[in-house]
Amino acid sequence: MKKISFKFAISLLMTSLLVSCSDNTSTTLNNLDAQTASIQSAQTNKKREAKYNIKLKVKNRLEATDLISHGLDLSGSGNGGNFDAYATQKQIDYAKSKNINISNAKNAIATNAGLPTGYHTVSQVLDMVKGMATKNPSIASFIDIGDSWEKTTGKSPNNDIWALVLSGKNVNPKTKSTAVFISGMHSRELLPVEINLKLMDYLISNYGKDPQVTNYIDTREIVFIPIANIDGRIAVEKGESMWRKNRHIDSNYDGIDLNRNFDGHWNFEGVNPLTPELKDLQSQLSEKNSEIYSGPNAFSEPETQTLNNFFKDKNVTVMMDMHAYGNMLLYPPGYDTSAKSDPTTVKVAKYMAGKNGYKTGTSLEILYATCGTSKDWGFDKHKAISFTMEMGDDSDGFRPPFTKVEETWAKNKVGLTYLVSIADNPVQRVK
Ligand SMILES: [Zn+2]
Repeated sequence: MKKISFKFAISLLMTSLLVSCSDNTSTTLNNLDAQTASIQSAQTNKKREAKYNIKLKVKNRLEATDLISHGLDLSGSGNGGNFDAYATQKQIDYAKSKNINISNAKNAIATNAGLPTGYHTVSQVLDMVKGMATKNPSIASFIDIGDSWEKTTGKSPNNDIWALVLSGKNVNPKTKSTAVFISGMHSRELLPVEINLKLMDYLISNYGKDPQVTNYIDTREIVFIPIANIDGRIAVEKGESMWRKNRHIDSNYDGIDLNRNFDGHWNFEGVNPLTPELKDLQSQLSEKNSEIYSGPNAFSEPETQTLNNFFKDKNVTVMMDMHAYGNMLLYPPGYDTSAKSDPTTVKVAKYMAGKNGYKTGTSLEILYATCGTSKDWGFDKHKAISFTMEMGDDSDGFRPPFTKVEETWAKNKVGLTYLVSIADNPVQRVK
């Protein structure tokens, strides 16, 4: 930890030398678009406080964690202490009271924008994936693996969670290893769904042509979950551009952050000692209006239950959950300074970073503390090589122009394919 704090201090020093010292703290937010509340209530009859897209600058990781603990929804890599944030006026006032440097976002995200041109809708994504399976019946199947919250409640009868499963002729069902690629868990993060489509298409269309790809599919199982949070993604398409959680919305709840709802040190369970910093964060995880509300218990949500049940008896060796943004590759544990990361995972991260240039580390080391995420579950439950990848530059945000898809795929094609290549036996493959 000492080394990390030192590094962070150096990067802050560098940044403070480079960045001009203009005082933005007095910026008023009255001129920002505050349509959010009314638009959101149109779909859910839920009254919410208006939120604003802002940029802020923290002095260190603890300060970032404190803001998150006070409800600010931070995104981006935090390079030089700079984050994007989505926050209510009250939360902004809290940050100001802590002398945090705040400025308006240059490109405030429109709250009713639908999808940017080029991005595929849920129905287009599912049609494409289904099409891939239909055209390649000997190696691919398109499977309904479970239901979303809105399906379980009858509100949206078609909202199933779908998987594309690739596995070829030589896969022994008893000993097969499974590589998992998840996207769309946080509904506002658009790039990962497109990258997951690219990966599926690349592997399927090279089957029988590229001997290596053919061998991967013939000898292991590769499972893609293109849209893990279908209700949330549909809400984004209908106009709630900043929606992150699932749509478990009723008199008690206002959505649950699926990527805090996994049984992997959920709510810092088993973390000892719980520092004051983590205790504060724990109370925010239990705050129902929070963007990181982790639910009443681990796997309380049908979406996370679906993933847990589907993979329960599989030999999952690789778990990649694709998110946006910040060009980071995060591995477990995200919650504990004393626990060590799996050495094979660290080696894989280094290899991938050599290809995509992303920053690697645990979220605690390079971002802020996390728990109950898919990557924690991937490691805790399956002992898999388990990652959260944050795709896209800080300037990309959640909704980069569609041209970014090709660029991001070009950066990540080798690394993602590498994960497939080691999935049969990571420890042996990764020297
Ligand atoms: Zn995310």
